[in-house]
Amino acid sequence: MQYYSLHHKSPKTSFKKAVIEGLAKDRGIYFPDEITALSSEFIENISDYTNHEIAFKVIKQFVGNEIPEDILKDIIKNTLTFDFPIVEINNNIASLELFHGPTMAFKDVGAKFMAQCLEYFNTNNDEEVTVLVATSGDTGGAVANGFLDAKGVNVVILYPSGKVSDIQEKQLTTLGKNITALEVDGVFDDCQEMVKTAFLDDEIARKLTSANSINIARWLPQMFYFFFAYKELHQKKKDIVFSVPSGNFGNICAGIMAQKLGLPVKHFVASTNVNDTVPNFLESGVYEPKPSKATISNAMDVGNPSNFIRIRELFNNDLQTLKNSFSSYSFSDDETREKMQDIYDISGYVSDPHGAVGYLGLEKYGLKENEIGVFLETAHPVKFLDVVEGTLPVKVEIPQQIKKVIDKEKVALKISSYEDLKNYLNA
Ligand SMILES: *Cc1c(COP(=O)(O)O)cnc(C)c1O
Repeated sequence: MQYYSLHHKSPKTSFKKAVIEGLAKDRGIYFPDEITALSSEFIENISDYTNHEIAFKVIKQFVGNEIPEDILKDIIKNTLTFDFPIVEINNNIASLELFHGPTMAFKDVGAKFMAQCLEYFNTNNDEEVTVLVATSGDTGGAVANGFLDAKGVNVVILYPSGKVSDIQEKQLTTLGKNITALEVDGVFDDCQEMVKTAFLDDEIARKLTSANSINIARWLPQMFYFFFAYKELHQKKKDIVFSVPSGNFGNICAGIMAQKLGLPVKHFVASTNVNDTVPNFLESGVYEPKPSKATISNAMDVGNPSNFIRIRELFNNDLQTLKNSFSSYSFSDDETREKMQDIYDISGYVSDPHGAVGYLGLEKYGLKENEIGVFLETAHPVKFLDVVEGTLPVKVEIPQQIKKVIDKEKVALKISSYEDLKNYLNA
């Protein structure tokens, strides 16, 4: 499988090279050259397959022969070590819980998959690679955990000081070993910009790659759980509408890729907080990135979502076609808190602020009689403890995965400019 840059000024490249480079030389993100739908027989009989088998079928064409099949199967097995339950909230809305992994965020899937691909590609290479990643919250923890002890791979994580939750901060600053956390005096967009700049800086001696959802090995495995959800829901014989709480738009873009592979999905709703670049674009046709604003759903505080260009590509850059199967709505923190309360009142379900934004998106879309709405619950409520316990009359029980990090000591280096980052990388 070949990949091309969405800036169209770099040559096509292999899966391996795209994973190692992260971003093409022309600063464009990579996109698969071909997308072949899976057989309708497979989709119709999806219940006959295990999750591991489904994942293998879904990802195989994108990896091609660049990883031997038995190794790819092992990578999938080591990635999908937990469940993706569907929890019904009422008779036409359900939550797809993606948070049962090691750091309790959906990003565990992409991070673990990518870490293993990179480790495989680097097996016979003496040179170490450095994964450089910016996080608005959950990426850092998932990447730190997914890459911990990966041979030949160092990880440097940039996060905005004071803008991630305490637990998220602990998850990315306490592991040590091959993981380093850099605490940036700024917002997420500053972190992301520094990472992008570093990739193009010839003066940086280290070999760098990214582990943001711009990296195809982190982005593509996110298709898996859309298939798992379908496997569980298709007996209902209803049309499925997915609402995805969106920040960098990688997760929802993976969902649309799943649809391209033949997964029956009626409509996608990209639900955002007040960082409303995409909802505005759908209204006005003008794509106008803005500085990010801090919200209670901080993993989505992104003003210039890097994967949106992939979504446009999937719809041939045609706004009308896009709008036929894709909507995007923005919600305030007040609306989010009210909805968390509402969901709790009607069902006893404790949602995190991101999940609640997803739920709001389904309501705004307006589900029809024969439709079932599935919102992706992207993080466990414990990851946003202050917001959840400050909004709902509940005490969230701390899961084992979190207990393990909560008392560990934070270790982070403070930086405030690109120069600081560069000095660190070259030291
Ligand atoms: C990363 C993240 C999101 C946003 O996902 P994107 O793929 O960047 O759109 C939503 N919710 C949570 C909890 C996240 O960690």
